Amino acid sequence: MEAKVISKQDLATWIDALVKQYEVIAPVTEDGVVVFRQVSGLSEMTIEGMVGPAKSLREHFTPPTETLFDYKLEDLSAEVIPPENEERHRVIFGARACDAATLLYVGAVYSNVEPIDTAYFMRREKTYLVGLFCNKPAWSCFCTEVGDFLTNPVAMDVYLTDLGNRYYAEPLTPKGEELIGLGNFRPADENDKVANEEIRQKALERLPKRAEHETACLSYDWDHPVWTELAKKCLSCGACAFLCPTCHCFDIQEHPKLKKGSRYRCWDTCQFEKFTLMASGHNPRETRKERTRQRVFHKFKYSQERYCMLGCVGCGRCIAACPVNIDIRRVLEELEKTAVAK
Ligand code: SF4
Ligand code: SF4
Repeated sequence: MEAKVISKQDLATWIDALVKQYEVIAPVTEDGVVVFRQVSGLSEMTIEGMVGPAKSLREHFTPPTETLFDYKLEDLSAEVIPPENEERHRVIFGARACDAATLLYVGAVYSNVEPIDTAYFMRREKTYLVGLFCNKPAWSCFCTEVGDFLTNPVAMDVYLTDLGNRYYAEPLTPKGEELIGLGNFRPADENDKVANEEIRQKALERLPKRAEHETACLSYDWDHPVWTELAKKCLSCGACAFLCPTCHCFDIQEHPKLKKGSRYRCWDTCQFEKFTLMASGHNPRETRKERTRQRVFHKFKYSQERYCMLGCVGCGRCIAACPVNIDIRRVLEELEKTAVAK
């Protein structure tokens, strides 16, 4: 598919055309942090010079709290009322390559066992992704250690790169071509292609080089001393998990009101003590050491074994958010010293 270019003067008109046909969700600054919200035009968006958004796209595919169904009880019968479908198609604009790559992983999780997660896949089906290359990766980013999706994007329809006074646009799917057709784009020329390549190279130079996590993580040490160190520092606050785009654990609760009620699911995390607490009182992961190990093993070992992919896209949010400066990159380094030595 042919690469195109749009000038920055024409960007607002393109966004207006998208807003007319779709719900558009884009990065905005809210209380000083960049998050993805519905917008009605370019003026609301934080696109220029954006460093990674503080929150990922997770809440737009699996909301923090989501009704699974309502019910009504009548004598001995029960009526189950499914939630209303979200009808409108939407464009998520400015998605980072790491956040788009997350969709591949979470999609594998939600389709791994029957029944598949219909709410998640309905939102996927209705979403078109316009990605934006990271010209300035954040200090905590390490996507290039866990994949090559920064330069070989996945799950996107269009991939944009900011070339200064214009955007380079690669349509990656027929739908991406349609979206581009709504704006005043021209075919990319040789200068545009060279500029695009230079910007990508500069960004890659700022990022760590590819590490062999896929092979090393299969022999991570269950009894490594790093688990005890982590347990001493970690507060079990859950910030790392709730900001992580690939974390997907939830709890299911009831909200009963006499003869009617709702069943809903809400985000939960393996970092909380009660996550694995059973009705019997037994807790298979009672200690913080077991819980911190679970998070790392799940992302790097179990995901590999079950889905043949890592459960981390290197977005660095857990590193930036941790109140006690736990850095998953350092944890992996420690684990890999002994994994490699084995
Ligand atoms: S953010 Fe840091 S302190 Fe909080 S649960 Fe995660 S690792 Fe522990
Ligand atoms: S584990 Fe950390 S770096 Fe990896 S995807 Fe989750 S938040 Fe991002």
